[in-house]
Amino acid sequence: MADRVNRVEPSATLAISNAATSLRADGVDVVDLSVGEPDFPTPQPIVDAAKAALDAGHTGYTTSSGILPLREAIVEKLAGDGVDATPAEVIVTPGGKQALYEVFQAYVDDGDEVVLLDPAWVSYEAMAKLAGADLTRVDTAPYGFQLAPALDDLAAAVSDATKLLVINSPSNPTGAVYSDEALAGVRDLAVEHDFMVLSDEIYDRITYDAEVTSMGAVPRMADRTITLNGFSKAYAMTGWRLGYVHAPAPIIEAAKKVHSHSVSCAVNFVQHAGVSALTETDAEVEEMRAAFEHRRDLLADWFAELGVDVPVGDGAFYMMVPVAADDTTWCTTAIEDAHVAMVPGSAFGAPGYARLSYAASADRLREGLDRLVDADLL
Ligand code: PMP
Repeated sequence: MADRVNRVEPSATLAISNAATSLRADGVDVVDLSVGEPDFPTPQPIVDAAKAALDAGHTGYTTSSGILPLREAIVEKLAGDGVDATPAEVIVTPGGKQALYEVFQAYVDDGDEVVLLDPAWVSYEAMAKLAGADLTRVDTAPYGFQLAPALDDLAAAVSDATKLLVINSPSNPTGAVYSDEALAGVRDLAVEHDFMVLSDEIYDRITYDAEVTSMGAVPRMADRTITLNGFSKAYAMTGWRLGYVHAPAPIIEAAKKVHSHSVSCAVNFVQHAGVSALTETDAEVEEMRAAFEHRRDLLADWFAELGVDVPVGDGAFYMMVPVAADDTTWCTTAIEDAHVAMVPGSAFGAPGYARLSYAASADRLREGLDRLVDADLL
């Protein structure tokens, strides 16, 4: 096989989901707290818009970078976040993941330095390595997963050789939302060392006590920020595959080459549904956000009662639970003995933790914790 593919491991969540699937096939009731997708149906206006688009015959290729009404709606969404954009600076992609892939392929060369904040979502490392990058990692675990107190460590890690820093707020897997102070610190380093920041804002509408600031809205960051987003999480559209990226024109023009020669365009009628998602679903998005918040608060109380010190984030639908030094063995025992599926923290660069997704009902969350307690795992 090609060297580039030998550099990466298969997705670490796969082992857990395979184990869960085979247990389920044997009739076992598995409490699955490993999944990264909302447990809600896609809001009806989006489904209706897709059906209408199909009936209207929107089934051919679209402009490679996406239909103009969707790119205009994205520009408006970005403007609401304080990010100046034009439709020409946006590419609509089949999922945020494809947008990330295109950016890495377009902007990162063999031997370039890419900096990640640990714990980091699993695919950043893989995509950076596929592009040939050398990775530098800065650990936020000693700081309760917050970025502001880790800025000194970040400052020590970056240099004029740094090409790209990836940030993800709210974060998968920690739920951390980075403060304005943290983002200003990142800006100072990006300006000093002349690197770009890729800001993955896919959880930006799922926040609780904190407001998310877009990196691209921070003064002097407009021309240094690549903003990534997608419809999977906020609109419960994981299977529709729809996302987008905004970046300064030279990067977007380069990414368009990768885009047009790989996927051509995102699915036509799904793009029409995306317009509805951005313009017609505020009530549904708020309902889901509130449900996630309720579960987060329940979990925070339950873990406090159990005496387990879990850093509680202000966004997304994940928590990093401190488990055991060997988190992989802990997760294997959890699935095999307690029939509870969680993802080892080491997959995210945070050994000693397991990621819990609360994209599950309160009853299932309680059942999961009870089983872990009964199996002496908590
Ligand atoms: N970024 C982060 C942080 C994610 O958690 C995910 C989904 N797990 C994605 C990007 C990509 O999602 P999608 O391709 O479904 O848009």
